[in-house]
Amino acid sequence: ELVLAFESSCDETSVAIIENGHKILANIIATQINSHKRFGGVVPEVASRHHIEQVVGCLEDALNEAQVSYDDLNAVAVTYGPGLVGALLVGVAAAKAVAFAHNLPLVPVNHMAGHIYAARFVEPIIFPALALLVSGGHTELVYLAKPNSYEIIGETRDDAAGEAYDKVGRILGINYPAGKEIDRLAHQGQDTFNFPRAMIDEDNFDFSFSGLKSAFINTVHHADQLGKELNHADLAASFQQSVVDVLAHKMVKALRKYPVKQLILAGGVAANSGLRERIKSELQDFEDVSLLMAPVKLCGDNAAMIGAAGYIAWKAGIRADMSLNAEPSLEFPLKK
Ligand code: ATP
Ligand code: MG
Ligand code: FE
Repeated sequence: ELVLAFESSCDETSVAIIENGHKILANIIATQINSHKRFGGVVPEVASRHHIEQVVGCLEDALNEAQVSYDDLNAVAVTYGPGLVGALLVGVAAAKAVAFAHNLPLVPVNHMAGHIYAARFVEPIIFPALALLVSGGHTELVYLAKPNSYEIIGETRDDAAGEAYDKVGRILGINYPAGKEIDRLAHQGQDTFNFPRAMIDEDNFDFSFSGLKSAFINTVHHADQLGKELNHADLAASFQQSVVDVLAHKMVKALRKYPVKQLILAGGVAANSGLRERIKSELQDFEDVSLLMAPVKLCGDNAAMIGAAGYIAWKAGIRADMSLNAEPSLEFPLKK
């Protein structure tokens, strides 16, 4: 069974064709990073225009690469939120057009559920599961009691971890998105600055990264004023160690409270090598919990993950009609 999937929530236009929810026949990703780089972040109007220019080509490429025609498809899945409204609308309009023209069911997918289902390309998800979801706009612990059930048990109160990576990168003169380069630098340095680990001992599953970002910026500015150049590798290592410590700590706390069968690590920041190593080692203390990490290549935005989540939703009868709209602030249900 084949699902055609669209993703256009931010700065990647992506179209995928997924077989039986876990086999990638095509996953075309047109990134706009080069257009946003010089602004140090994603410019919404620029993003929308790029999606419009790219989406039809991505669709044609996906069908070609998968060697399938519209008649072979069983459903159309699409990200309808959260994300930039003008960007989301392009994918939603394209998905509706294909669904309408070819009389296929239209399946609405939450972008963050998609990130979780990137892990499905490694192995099936075992429920109940806990997801540590770390991306450019979100940092959440999500409890999955069963398929299509997502409950946030903790989340960031200010910046997302990926956002902090990108802002700190800017201070070091690293191009957006800075996560990958900071990760590389961190491996060449030491945690010499001992930045704050916000909320680490608090009795909740929430996060905060804006204090860490400010501490980092203040440290660099202070040194600048004294005419001192700090070691970038040590700065990167110290920043990363703080992020990883807090994420790992809260994840462990959540695993103690929610007995789950699986821990899923997903989202753009899940590509981080320091985080992956740390989570792997923490999980050794939880014999009954298996670890499922999204493949590094599928941690960033892509339509394959939307196809995987969409397949599960389609099987559960989740449908949208032609009135489907973009929901820029779409959220999982909150349980606190
Ligand atoms: P959201 O998914 O919350 O809507 P988004 O789609 O913009 O936001 P993603 O595509 O999931 O975010 O992830 C992009 C983020 O991941 C960027 O902030 C980027 O810096 C970060 N990132 C990518 N690779 C790494 C890495 N190796 N280490 C740390 N961060 C990374
Ligand atoms: Mg992106
Ligand atoms: Fe994303």
